[in-house]
Amino acid sequence: MLRIEHITKQYKTGDFVQRALDDVSLTLRDNEFVAILGPSGSGKTTLLNIIGGLDRYDSGDLVINGISTTKYRDRDWDSYRNHTIGFVFQSYNLIPHQNILTNVELALTISGVSKKERTERARKALEQVGLGEHIHKKPNQLSGGQMQRVAIARALVNDPDIVLADEPTGALDTATSVQIMQLLKEVAQDRLVVMVTHNPELAEQYATRIVNLKDGHILGDSNPYTVDSSEQKAPVHRTMGKASMSLATSIALSFTNLRMKKARTILTSFAGSIGIIGIALILAVSTGVNTYIVNLQRETMTSYPITIDAQSWDLQSLMENSAKRGEKKDPGHGTDKVYADSTAFTQASSITTSIAHNNLTKFKQYLDNPKSEIRQYVGDNGVHYSYDMRFQVVSNDPDNKLVTANGVTFGQSAKGMTNQMVMASGSRTTMSDITSMQMGELTGNKKQNAAPSSFEQLMPGRSANELISPVITDNYEVVTGAWPKNAHQVVLIADRNNEVPMDVLYGIGLLRSADYQQIMNTIADGKKVSIDTTSLKYDDVVGHTMKLITASDQYVLGSDGHYTYVGDNEQEMSKLANSDAAQQLEIAGVIRPKADAKTTMLTGSVGYTSALTDVIIDRTAQSAPVQAQEASKDVSVITGLTFSPSDDATKIADARQYVAGLGVSEKANMAKSLMTQAAAAQGATGSAGESSAAGSGAMPALSEDQIASQFDAYLATADNQVLLQIYDRYVSTGTYDDTLADFGLVDRNAPSEIRIYTDSFEAKDKVSDAIKAYNDKASEPDRIVYVDYVGALMSSVTTIVNVITYVLIAFVSVSLVVSSIMIGIITYISVLERTKEIGILRAMGASKRNIAQVFNAETGMIGLCAGLIGVGVTWLLLLPGNALLHSLMGNTEVNAVLEPLPALILVVLSVILTLIGGIIPAGQASRKDPATALRTE
Ligand code: ADP
Ligand code: MG
Repeated sequence: MLRIEHITKQYKTGDFVQRALDDVSLTLRDNEFVAILGPSGSGKTTLLNIIGGLDRYDSGDLVINGISTTKYRDRDWDSYRNHTIGFVFQSYNLIPHQNILTNVELALTISGVSKKERTERARKALEQVGLGEHIHKKPNQLSGGQMQRVAIARALVNDPDIVLADEPTGALDTATSVQIMQLLKEVAQDRLVVMVTHNPELAEQYATRIVNLKDGHILGDSNPYTVDSSEQKAPVHRTMGKASMSLATSIALSFTNLRMKKARTILTSFAGSIGIIGIALILAVSTGVNTYIVNLQRETMTSYPITIDAQSWDLQSLMENSAKRGEKKDPGHGTDKVYADSTAFTQASSITTSIAHNNLTKFKQYLDNPKSEIRQYVGDNGVHYSYDMRFQVVSNDPDNKLVTANGVTFGQSAKGMTNQMVMASGSRTTMSDITSMQMGELTGNKKQNAAPSSFEQLMPGRSANELISPVITDNYEVVTGAWPKNAHQVVLIADRNNEVPMDVLYGIGLLRSADYQQIMNTIADGKKVSIDTTSLKYDDVVGHTMKLITASDQYVLGSDGHYTYVGDNEQEMSKLANSDAAQQLEIAGVIRPKADAKTTMLTGSVGYTSALTDVIIDRTAQSAPVQAQEASKDVSVITGLTFSPSDDATKIADARQYVAGLGVSEKANMAKSLMTQAAAAQGATGSAGESSAAGSGAMPALSEDQIASQFDAYLATADNQVLLQIYDRYVSTGTYDDTLADFGLVDRNAPSEIRIYTDSFEAKDKVSDAIKAYNDKASEPDRIVYVDYVGALMSSVTTIVNVITYVLIAFVSVSLVVSSIMIGIITYISVLERTKEIGILRAMGASKRNIAQVFNAETGMIGLCAGLIGVGVTWLLLLPGNALLHSLMGNTEVNAVLEPLPALILVVLSVILTLIGGIIPAGQASRKDPATALRTE
């Protein structure tokens, strides 16, 4: 039983108030066919909508089976429409893009009935209205009468208590109208049917009760139903439970929806994907550029690590000085006098004062400390320490003549100079070689017994068992033989043309030294040399052996108990080479830079492993001269003299002792050189030195013996000043540390060079900052000075890279905003377009949440499609795009690439953005008043 009690309903449009229903009361039986008649605008539809829960009454009550609806909430109404009511409309209101079966299933779908049961019940309902064979047709493939029968089937599918029909025959011809009326009459057999109609004859013929409505009032009722009010219980409130549609169902619903509208979905997705394509392309290009930049930076930093030498130029102060000199101000001298220009002196001094001595022992402690700030910026290649290696490598040339890698032939001759010149220009000299060479010149601190410059230690890997760093093995290939596997194997390093400097080949005994001698002589004679192409078979190279003799082994204990240097003595070196002091080295292979090598960091021609370095360091520490010197801290084991005495008397005594120990010809040579110097000094000062031992004119006539004895006589009475001069020039023993350094003793805590590898310029700058911070804390002598070559070269590159990155980020942000706005608009249009559908869904009992869910599922799916299309199209576009990029750039270094993870993120982003873009329109859709929505066409 349905009771309408004093219901009023007003519509306000502006200031105008329309009373659509004015205090209407009507009681309907559970089982009758009620026809509501009345002129247009009399409130029939309004009454029906209120009965059906599509519209709310302003006052009064609607009591359904004794349950009052005054306290109904949205979900109660939704459930009420879904389970209790079936709607039939004049304009059928079928969803055009779904087939008949799906349309009929709708109410069941909304209440969450399983697919199988849904189909079964919908099929039954369709058979009931005589449309069993048409279930897969679309509404527009049916006639009006058939469509209305589908609508009736849809109304019946949930087996509702009440069927409401609003002018169901209004759009049909008479014959069809009769069929529909017949059908409704059957429907009314076991339920309440309320039908609005214009047609009094049809009403008379089929309805069991006719209610006349006019201007919102009931004018007449053919069969009123009055219930004894005493029998009537007071209406109570009870909720109806809810009609629930699962998310999966709404997705499935949206999916069929989208599938039915393939073209539209694809177009919408494509429109949405344009933004995604834009972002994906920018991302791909920036990934490519970024990878390129990261590689470039890593390669640059591998080739030019931050290098800190024990001795370094303070380039900055040097440049500041020269800048000062450059802008030399007008000193404002008058024309009254002659002024001295001291530029040459200040220049010389600025160069010498700009040499910095770095305390690498302290700095190494800092670097090794795991808590140091600098550690986090160190790159994959780590930190490498180099030590001052002092050794000589000798070998037998094809003629079995002994050669040395330090200068090919033994002995110092006029041609030896040319030797050095060739070695300096021929070998691949590095920046630091040149610097240390110049530094040696300037400081007078030449390294004794330094390792041959053609020998280079191959950088070890970071882990202890990695003898050679991947940086080297990745960039160099073995052309024959193999990489060294132990301390005694080395590799010959060829360049890209498979060439090795010729002087190196002479020095390690692979070519005949006699030929070398000839070339040198030709050069010394001032003639032109022409050298034929010389080549070596791999077999002759691989397996070639050399002998390494450490600096300490080159000092031999003499009968006087002093150690003597024999490194330049061919016979002694030959003896050593055949003794067990010699470390055998074997060429294990030949390597060269790979064709696509990014970093060709090796500058030497013979590469040895850090294992050999360890052998040398340990052997030196154990060696006799080192042990002897360490046992005698004050007296040099080379000269037997006290280290750098501070008083003149000891120096004079040392000088006398030194001269006494010399042979005749050595004495004569010393005398000659002292006299030449004295003569030069006389010439300069203009004084006549009568006290000199002999007139320069008399000299050539005397024999060496005579000169030596005269020199002895002279020294016996000589001025202390002369002896001090002799001490400074010839005797000076240097210091204890210098002597040990000459022996090649290395303290592992005191590297001669530290190389810090970083992976990017940024990390390099951070390392620089960390060193600055270290310097700020360190005391003055412990401060670290080094030259940041890369920093000087690359600072502008870093800025440009940053600018490009920011520009790309800006582009991406703009595309994001544009694409989400576009998606929002598309969803909004879709909502407008589907207002009617929303009304239908609501009439079937869909809740506001269901509507929002359906729209969100749909936008989400469009977002998914848009994302997939975007990523797919981008992948396709990248093929010709990269080809174009490569041909424009002339290389393949920048490769635009969309990685799977960013691609996935973009798809997710597309879904999220589409959802966000759709949330407002979907919310709007869900809030649409169902009655109004149904009235829209
Ligand atoms: P009927 O179905 O009998 O033709 P309706 O129930 O549709 O009449 O309308 C009754 C009255 O209420 C009409 O005057 C109509 O203009 C008005 N009306 C109906 N719905 C609205 C609305 N949403 N806003 C304003 N006025 C409305
Ligand atoms: Mg109407």
